[in-house]
Amino acid sequence: MVFRPTEDIQTLGRDVFREFFSDNGLFSLRVPYMRDIEVQVIDMCLSLMAGGPDSAGTLTSGGSESIYSALHAIRERAREQGRGGERPEVIAPYSAHPAFSKGCHYFDLTLTRIPLGNDLRADVQAMEAAVSDRTVAVIGSAPCWPYGLFDSITELGSVAERHNLWLHVDACVGGYLSPFAKALGMNIPAWNFEVPAVQSISADLHKFGYCPKPSSTVLWRSKDLLKYHYVHPRDWPGGEYASTGFAGSRNGGAIFAAWAVMKRLGFEGYLELTRKMVAQRQKLIDGINALGSLVVRETDLVPLPVEGVDVDVGLVSAELMKRGWIILGTQEPPLMNFPVDAATTDEVVETLLGDMRGIITDIKSGKISGESYLVYG
Ligand SMILES: *Cc1c(COP(=O)(O)O)cnc(C)c1O
Repeated sequence: MVFRPTEDIQTLGRDVFREFFSDNGLFSLRVPYMRDIEVQVIDMCLSLMAGGPDSAGTLTSGGSESIYSALHAIRERAREQGRGGERPEVIAPYSAHPAFSKGCHYFDLTLTRIPLGNDLRADVQAMEAAVSDRTVAVIGSAPCWPYGLFDSITELGSVAERHNLWLHVDACVGGYLSPFAKALGMNIPAWNFEVPAVQSISADLHKFGYCPKPSSTVLWRSKDLLKYHYVHPRDWPGGEYASTGFAGSRNGGAIFAAWAVMKRLGFEGYLELTRKMVAQRQKLIDGINALGSLVVRETDLVPLPVEGVDVDVGLVSAELMKRGWIILGTQEPPLMNFPVDAATTDEVVETLLGDMRGIITDIKSGKISGESYLVYG
């Protein structure tokens, strides 16, 4: 159930990827036919994020690289401004993706994770209280992975403005879903460049952009910020080495495939895929809640956070894995996370619910006992 479009779009992505798999995206800054494609993809992405004429974007290999790009730029700006001391600090809600911890480790930043509010969203007051003269950035998720809940980007924006901090929004899972979910009437709070303090956004094309992996974007409020992103050395025999980001060689297939998928779908196509996904999501929510032993917690979008009522949800997860389902989980509290996608058919939903029903019966009768299994990645 993970980030697949319908069959026809999967086939298109595969075919275009294969067609261009020998092309090297390293040259996209210099080779016009590649640059044009990349610029068109970025423009489509920015148009979904309320980007202005001065906004910019970079295609990356995934959410982690998009997050590293933002953290690196945050550090570069902090250095330029002489702020944050030896190890500038980034403040994030506890639920922010572990890629922020990895990135801060790589870039000698200190990541301070602040406990969540009772509603499992960012505790904005506590985050503001933690701001010190070492702090250079705040992070919010739109939504976070463990619970599918949006942090209040508007309130985090006020904090960023009051303390002159860089606000990065991690919309890796939601970025290419929220615009369409909102158009379909779901209650999606402001999260993108609409919020004036947002400087950068990470959003994965290889999740609900329905593009083949590896494909993600980091989007910048203004082209000015690119100076903190690019590193174009000249100190070797080959002259200026101009790459778009962390990667050197990049598979051109992923870039062309992203263009093809986005062009083919257009706004209407994504809307239709989202309509399908939202309907299956509701069937799954209703079906799981009807089992009586599991419950879907409050969530704004995806993934669905599924909790045990009178069974150990970790044991249900372990048993589902034995039956071939790949289940991602959260430990605090114990949850299974279901990112329903547009390729989720009635049959898949029924099979999953049937497996859950059987497992719950076997757990209760004592036929199944064993180790809980709830991890992400
Ligand atoms: C998936 C995800 C990431 C990381 O993306 P990768 O493509 O796996 O590197 C970061 N943040 C959130 C909220 C995600 O869902």
